[in-house]
Amino acid sequence: MKKLTNKVVLVTGASRGIGAAIAMEMAKEGAKVVINYSGNKAEADSLVQTISNEGGVAIALQADVSNAAQVQALFDHAVAHFGKVDILVNNAGIMITKLLKDTTDEDFTRQFDINVRGTFNTLREAATKLADNGSIINLSSSNNRIILPTYSTYAASKSAVEQLTRVFTKEIGNRGINVNSVSPGPTNTELFRKGKTDEAIERLKSMSPFNRLGEARDTAKVVVFLASDDAKWINAQNIGVNGGMS
Ligand code: NDP
Repeated sequence: MKKLTNKVVLVTGASRGIGAAIAMEMAKEGAKVVINYSGNKAEADSLVQTISNEGGVAIALQADVSNAAQVQALFDHAVAHFGKVDILVNNAGIMITKLLKDTTDEDFTRQFDINVRGTFNTLREAATKLADNGSIINLSSSNNRIILPTYSTYAASKSAVEQLTRVFTKEIGNRGINVNSVSPGPTNTELFRKGKTDEAIERLKSMSPFNRLGEARDTAKVVVFLASDDAKWINAQNIGVNGGMS
């Protein structure tokens, strides 16, 4: 028996990277998947095709998570199409890395608008629209634990995501919904590789006892577990998915 048969999952930022891997793994476990993306329609459509070629069911829906009206429409469209949403994965995110002194007002606003307001927007919809006994998994980062220069606004945004996670459990637990966050370590995606030298990547790799980067699938497998009934008693937790880096 697959772990997520008859479940409907909405994954934000699922056109690429970790979100795409989560969508794939959810579909393999029997869930019907809503693949949200912001600009990359071609990759989102191609993932829908891949899932359907493998016998799964998925649709792609555009919405900028930082825009409340678009997130409302995203939820409504998903519910209208599949009849319900059981699982929400708040994966959409960006990472701006600069020394704090060089960070502009626009950088700060963009970082928080997508990572924090985006999560807030979907949680607010989920408060009334997620099905009873569902699950929510929010993407934080191990960056919060290792503390490196240039990550101030990013780490601050992910700390806010962890607090939204904890507080929301107290507001939605009465509907049987558990809410957790995961904190991947450095993971081999565009977000991580962009702007880094090979040397910088090697340095981060060597911080892991396994001396490798995470792959998107490493995190996806854990998110699927947290979305399954087997993980129902895990609530308000932050799970590191980083090979023991921190
Ligand atoms: P990628 O840059 O590879 O993918 C980002 C995804 O988010 C894309 O699907 C993109 O859509 C989507 N997205 C970006 N902005 C928006 C928006 N405003 N509204 C909706 N979707 C949006 O990132 P990763 O896969 O690496 O990261 C995924 C999550 O994991 C992020 O929250 C990140 O902070 C977190 N994380 C990543 C780590 C890493 O090392 N990679 C480590 C720890 C945490 P589109 O394609 O349409 O642009």
